Amino acid sequence: MATETILHRETTTLPHPHPPKSPRPVGGRGLLPKYVSTTNACKLCKPLGACLAFRGIEGSVPYLHGSQGCATYMRRYIISHFNEPIDIASSSLGEKNAIYGGGANLKQGLKNVTDKYQPQMIGIATTCLTETIGDDLNLIVHEYRKEAGESAKMPILVKVSTPSYSGTHMEGFHAAVLSVLATLCEETPPNGRVNILPGFLSPADLRYLKEVLAAFALSATVLPDISDTLDGPALDEYQLIPAGGTPLGEIRTMGGAAATIEFGSTISDKESGGTFLEKSFGVGKQRLTMPIGVAATDRFFAALAGLSGKATPARYAGARGRLIDSLVDGHKYVFGKKAVVYGEEDLVVALAGFLAEIGVQPVLCASGGKSGRLKEAVAAVTDGLCEVAPETYDDIDFHEIESRATELAPDLIIGHSKGYPLARKLAIPLIRVGFPIHDRVGGQRILHIGYEGAQHLFDRIANAMIQVKQDSSPVGYSYM
Ligand code: SF4
Repeated sequence: MATETILHRETTTLPHPHPPKSPRPVGGRGLLPKYVSTTNACKLCKPLGACLAFRGIEGSVPYLHGSQGCATYMRRYIISHFNEPIDIASSSLGEKNAIYGGGANLKQGLKNVTDKYQPQMIGIATTCLTETIGDDLNLIVHEYRKEAGESAKMPILVKVSTPSYSGTHMEGFHAAVLSVLATLCEETPPNGRVNILPGFLSPADLRYLKEVLAAFALSATVLPDISDTLDGPALDEYQLIPAGGTPLGEIRTMGGAAATIEFGSTISDKESGGTFLEKSFGVGKQRLTMPIGVAATDRFFAALAGLSGKATPARYAGARGRLIDSLVDGHKYVFGKKAVVYGEEDLVVALAGFLAEIGVQPVLCASGGKSGRLKEAVAAVTDGLCEVAPETYDDIDFHEIESRATELAPDLIIGHSKGYPLARKLAIPLIRVGFPIHDRVGGQRILHIGYEGAQHLFDRIANAMIQVKQDSSPVGYSYM
């Protein structure tokens, strides 16, 4: 069952057997005490995030241990955003497996995928069903290897536990990255490279990121890298496994890198690939807010300058200068406007910082994630920039976002396509960012990061505000 269809709304006529003693100060359920569960989640399914991460690794096939519906739902979601085909294998469990276990199906599926795709790696993620019935993934894969025999030619098998009832797609994404690192990384002599753990960025962001690293003359491993695998050129023939992704050979040597840069303001040490590399191989890490907006991009470029010993290349210094100039030119269209921001926690933090620095007040910052660090992270990036501290809620759903947003009367909302009904209801613009974007083309081409990304976002926001004014004018205007 897809998370967006989990609609267990408590009836308002029957008292809840265990009513909350008092509303939580931060968190979705506390906003509307009559509702104890989710109405239109502001997060996606945990193994979906794992599949996206696995899709960013060279020669890899994502494989769900569960029923077919989960794979179909995830493929549907991913294809709708990226407009690219994505194969997600499934162990295709039925009713009997729910009782007797899915081990036999998992093994048969691994064999089929190996025969048909000849992948270099299979990324196996569990689902709600297989976590609930208690299938032991480690044991089943161990048995599969043993039964196949030592000499069998087998892809690398990476396993990750992703019960969606206890997390978000971003937790699944980070868990998959961590599992890839734990499976593949080896003791390696120092190689002077830089590891970049970008989190879930768009293909356009990843391409930009690699250009920036090259401009600083840094040899880097970006893990994962969906820039080609989920945004490739048109081909005459369908490729079972698209070209691109982080090379397995590079992942193996990430323990020998000089440093790791990890984007993320709410990621915990437990789920952090950067912390894993630091603890296991002594690779020093810098954890940065996603480089969205001037200040966050400055910090990222300063980190690269420190690692490379080079000043910011002229083309990026020029882009920064043009961005500042455009902020001066356009501030009158955006200054004092109020925005609602929602989505993945790290994206919400970075966007809140960007909005605050361009003079837009982020009045509500919301996420379905519940790291427990969102409020603090939003406060850190908006400190000194907002007259009123943004209201920040984690573990929130769209029903609650709507309730709060209606009171706060924002001028715009910024987030993925799931906020469209709210934007329509409030009759305000939706600036589409992040994932998923189902109702526009080009979600994979949105550039969020760097000076250029900030420029695109600023222009879109300023033009949206200009259009509102233009549309609401009785006569309209064509010249400013
Ligand atoms: S893993 Fe769980 S939440 Fe995700 S599609 Fe399957 S049943 Fe739905």
